[in-house]
Amino acid sequence: MLRPGFLTTTAVTLSRGRASQAALYGFPRASLLASSTQNPRLLSSAANSLTKLQAQLDDPTLIASAGFIDNEFITASTSGKHFAVYDPANGTEIARFPDMGIEETEKAIQAAKQAFPSWSKTTAKERSTILRNWYNLILENEQDLAKIITWENGKPLADALGEVRYGASFFEWFSEEAKRLYGEVIPSPNRQQRMVAIRQPLGVVGIITPWNFPNAMITRKLGAALAVGCTVVAKPASETPLSAVALYELGKRAGVPKGVIGLVTTHHNTKAIGKLLCESQDISGISFTGSTNVGKLLLKQSADTVKKVSLELGGNAAFIVFEDADLDKAVDAAVLAKFRSSGQTCICVNRFYVHSSIKDVFGERLREKVEKFRVGSGMDANTTHGPLINKASVEKVRLHVHDALDHGAKLLIGGKESENAHGYFYPPTVLSDMTNNMRIATEETFGPVAGIFSFDTEEEVLELANNTRFGLAGYFFSKDVSRCWRVAENLQVGMVGVNTGAISSEVAPFGGVKESGIGREGARQGLDEYTQYKYINMAI
Ligand code: NAP
Repeated sequence: MLRPGFLTTTAVTLSRGRASQAALYGFPRASLLASSTQNPRLLSSAANSLTKLQAQLDDPTLIASAGFIDNEFITASTSGKHFAVYDPANGTEIARFPDMGIEETEKAIQAAKQAFPSWSKTTAKERSTILRNWYNLILENEQDLAKIITWENGKPLADALGEVRYGASFFEWFSEEAKRLYGEVIPSPNRQQRMVAIRQPLGVVGIITPWNFPNAMITRKLGAALAVGCTVVAKPASETPLSAVALYELGKRAGVPKGVIGLVTTHHNTKAIGKLLCESQDISGISFTGSTNVGKLLLKQSADTVKKVSLELGGNAAFIVFEDADLDKAVDAAVLAKFRSSGQTCICVNRFYVHSSIKDVFGERLREKVEKFRVGSGMDANTTHGPLINKASVEKVRLHVHDALDHGAKLLIGGKESENAHGYFYPPTVLSDMTNNMRIATEETFGPVAGIFSFDTEEEVLELANNTRFGLAGYFFSKDVSRCWRVAENLQVGMVGVNTGAISSEVAPFGGVKESGIGREGARQGLDEYTQYKYINMAI
C-alpha cells in the first residue's frame, strides 16, 4: 500500500541530462534545483524514480519524501522549495525532499515541547517497550532498510545490512538501559537530613546527523534520548534523508506518541535550522555527529542558552604496526579499519605507522588485498567497495593523493581514476614512503587512501600518532603485553583497538577527546548526554 500524498504532491526531479551534469561538475545541489522546481515534466520524472525504488521493496511505504512533524509526514515545505537526493553510484536523482525552514522547525520544536511533560512521565518500562517494538520492526524490515541506505549512501548492500543491525542494536540496548537509569543515595553527613540524587531528562533535544551512517547515527542518539524521557527534533544529512524517514515510519508503528520525535529535512536552510536548534530556549540539549568545524560552530551557538552539547566529530586515526605484530592479523584489520565504507567512517585509519623493518612487506601485503577489491554500485552483489558520497569528496581524496605524490610518496596501487566512470568513485589507493609534510599527516581524508609512514621506536611513534588536534580512535598491533598497556594508555584518543580493527559496539562508550568531540554515545554512558542530576535534600 502506498501512503497517499507521498508521491503525488512534491516529487520533482531533474532530467537525466541535468543530473549527470551535476555529477560531472559537482554543482551544489541547491542551485541546480532552484530553476527546475516548477517544471511539471520533471515532476513526473521524480515520481517515477521514487516509484521504481518502491517497487524493489517488500514494504513500499517505507520510502517517502517527507519530514515528520507532530506525528504527520509532511511532503511539502512552506516555501514550496525542494532538494534532490542522488544515487552516488551513478549521479542520478532518486528523490526530492521538502526543503524545510525555520517555520517547520519551530513547529517541530513546539510539538516536542508539548509532548515532553507526558513522555517524560511515562515509566521506564513503557519507554523500553516502545524502543523494543521499534527494534523488532527494524529487524523485520532490515532488507528494505539496507537497500534504502545503499541507494542514498552508496555502501555495498552487505555493509548496509550490517549498519541496519548495528543501528537496531542501539534501540535494543537502550530499551534495556532505560530501566537502569539509577540515581544515587548519598550517605548524609548529619542525622536530620536524607540525601538523594535523581536523574531527569533534559527536555527537548536537537539532533543533527551525517550521511555516512544514515541509519545508525540516528538510532544511536534517538535510542538514548527516548530511553530517558527526552523528546527530539532531528535533522538528517541532506544527502541521506530517506533512511531517516523509513526509521520514523517504523517509530510511528512502534507506538512513539505524537510530537515525541520530529524530523525536519533541508538543504538550503541547514545553517538557519542549526542556529535555531542551538539558540532556542525550548531546546535543552544538542547532539551532533559530523565535521569538527560544524561542531565548533554549534558549540558556540549554544553558549548563550547554556545547553548541554554532545559532539561526535572528525578523526585522524593512527594505525601502528610494531615489529613484533602478527602481520596477517594486522593486514586484515588494516583492510577493515581503512577501507570500510570506502574510507568514509570517522574511525577509519588516516595514518599507518609501520615499523621500518616490516614497512615494505606490510605495504605489499596490503596492496595484494586491495587488488582484490571490486569497486562498483553497492547494489551489485560482487561489489566490495562502493562510491564516495559526492563530487567534493572525490576531489578531496584526489587532492590528498596528488599532494602525497608531489611530496615524494610511492604509489603501490590505485591513484588513477577511470575517465569513463559515472558516479562518485575513487580507486582504493595505497601509498608508501609518506612524510609529515603531506596533507594526509594532518587532515582527515575520509576516503579510500592508505598512506604508510615508517618509524623506529615506540616513543617516536607515540609522538607522531598524538601530534594531531584530533583524538577519536587509534589502533595498534603488538604481541608485547607491557607495550600493549603502555601504548593504549598513552594514545590521546577516546577509543583504542589493540590487535583489532573493529571497535564499534552498542555496549561500549563511543566518542573522542581533543577536537574529536565531547561526550559518549552507546553504552551506559550514552544516557548521560540526555540527563541531568537533581539533588534532593529532605529533612526528617
Ligand atoms: P558535516 O558537513 O559536518 O555534516 C553533518 C551534519 O551537519 C549534516 O546533517 C549537515 O547538514 C549538518 N550541518 C552542516 N553545516 C551545518 C551548520 N552550519 N549548522 C548545522 N548543521 C550543519 O559533516 P559530513 O561531511 O556530513 O560528515 C563527515 C564528518 O563527520 C567527518 O569529519 C567524520 O569524521 C565525522 N563523523 C564523526 C562521527 C563520530 O561519531 N565522531 C561519526 C560519523 C562522522 P547538510 O547535510 O544539510 O549539510
